[in-house]
Amino acid sequence: MSTPENRKKVIDLLNQARAGELTAIMQYMAHHYELEDADYGKLAKIMKTIAIQEMDHAEQLAERILYLAGTPTSEPDGQITHGQDIPELLKRDIGLEQGAVDMYNASAMACAQAGDHTSQRLFQQLLADEEDHLGQFENIQAHVEKLGDVYLATLTGGEAE
Ligand code: FE
Ligand code: FE
Repeated sequence: MSTPENRKKVIDLLNQARAGELTAIMQYMAHHYELEDADYGKLAKIMKTIAIQEMDHAEQLAERILYLAGTPTSEPDGQITHGQDIPELLKRDIGLEQGAVDMYNASAMACAQAGDHTSQRLFQQLLADEEDHLGQFENIQAHVEKLGDVYLATLTGGEAE
């Protein structure tokens, strides 16, 4: 990390990412309890698992920001949507993940240019998780589109946690 300007730029990128993670955490938690309330327990469980992974991301970003002597933001970057049906909420979640994938690709490159390879590696690690989330949501979406109610029925039930 060569200059204070570069350090500030990296902190801003990390905080931009953290703000997105905070939105994702709250969105997936809302999907978790709303889906569970509607008896889509299996899909609810997937949402909870991903929400917990996003919490870990937000935490790792905060740790890196503090290491760089910045202040981790506590402000999410977006509004949470409520009460959508499953195809609508999947569209929302795919949008969030695609946004994260695009942002983290660009941020990893910008960190490399700023000479901060530790932050670059953090973005690359988060990127792999976001691609996994995106893939999971896209698979579910594809099944819903192809199989409709037959597939939705397989997402019901499951254990409440
Ligand atoms: Fe994340
Ligand atoms: Fe994600």
